[in-house]
Amino acid sequence: MKIPSVDLKAQYKTIKKEIDMSIKNVIADCAYVGTSSNKYVQNFENEFAKFAGVKYVIACANGTDAIEIALRALGVGAGDEVIVPALTWISTAEAVSSLGAKPVFVDIDEYYSIDVAKIEKAITKKTKAIIPVHLYGAPADMISILKIAKKHGLKVLEDCAQAHGAELNGKKVGTFGDIATFSFFPGKNLGAYGDAGGIATSNKTLADMCRKISQHGQLDKKHFHYIEGRNSRMDGIQAAVLSVKLKYLNQWTKQRIKNADKYCQLLNKIDLPKVRSGAKHVYHLFVIQTDHRDQLQQYLKEQGIEVGIHYPTALPFLEAYKQYHYKPADFPVAYEVTKKILSLPMYAELTDSQIKFVAKSVVSFLDLK
Ligand SMILES: *Cc1c(COP(=O)(O)O)cnc(C)c1O
Repeated sequence: MKIPSVDLKAQYKTIKKEIDMSIKNVIADCAYVGTSSNKYVQNFENEFAKFAGVKYVIACANGTDAIEIALRALGVGAGDEVIVPALTWISTAEAVSSLGAKPVFVDIDEYYSIDVAKIEKAITKKTKAIIPVHLYGAPADMISILKIAKKHGLKVLEDCAQAHGAELNGKKVGTFGDIATFSFFPGKNLGAYGDAGGIATSNKTLADMCRKISQHGQLDKKHFHYIEGRNSRMDGIQAAVLSVKLKYLNQWTKQRIKNADKYCQLLNKIDLPKVRSGAKHVYHLFVIQTDHRDQLQQYLKEQGIEVGIHYPTALPFLEAYKQYHYKPADFPVAYEVTKKILSLPMYAELTDSQIKFVAKSVVSFLDLK
């Protein structure tokens, strides 16, 4: 049985009519680019703000830009330090470096998010902010992070690129810190049909600053540039697609959680994702751990099952950060888990028979061990 790790085609089939119509409308209106008068982008911003539980959403070109713009709005610049988890997609750290600041890595906990017990050791006089990442869709320990940030006068940016709709203690992720960023990359839980991103905050000053940065320093008046900004806009087509898909997001999330529960019932002999107390995990990825990861990956491939590794190397050990000379002992948890983690196929449209086939294949591999 052929099972992809994500099946965007299966999803498109369920909403084809609405999507095709929404794209046609944008073309008919020539509303291609998200300048301040684009109603498709404005509508999506308002709808997503309501969904995310914030007052303001600023649409932008992608999730990486979102982090960079939000950090700049927080005042992060050359010479500053920003704390980021050792295991995440590189954007989280890249955005820090692109502002001339230094990403300072902290090891992860058993839920794959930043280990709050190790944050304070990483704080120096130069530290400006912390970026918790709700990796795989699992909320980071925001309560402890906010306490530490308050004690040391640090800003908090939540990287919600993998966690649309995730919650901690009944509160949406992205509403805990000063500002939050989202990616709408096609494969994310809410994905466009191209690149797109967004910034969410309830702080008007920060929202205005992000808006200015993303549209060449303009805010309310065209050709009045308050500052030098940059160009980071969401396309009209992406906004229209996202508005259609947002209506289905809660339903898709419920289905992801159901699928995860089914995997858990069928796979009790393997290390399953742990869910923090009070957390609603939205399973962007369903990540298991095994000592025989590479062999299991190969075995599943032979069965037609596509799996992923997120990520094969923790950030500190990438070539890109070799100038810092990190050793495995500096981030032991991140270093160890990257040898064991495997992301099983996960999407709302997975059928029962697909889930059973994946689980059966994993179990029969383990029985061979
Ligand atoms: C996808 C992702 C991003 C970046 O989003 P893009 O839209 O691809 O630029 C940032 N952080 C994390 C954790 C991500 O998974």
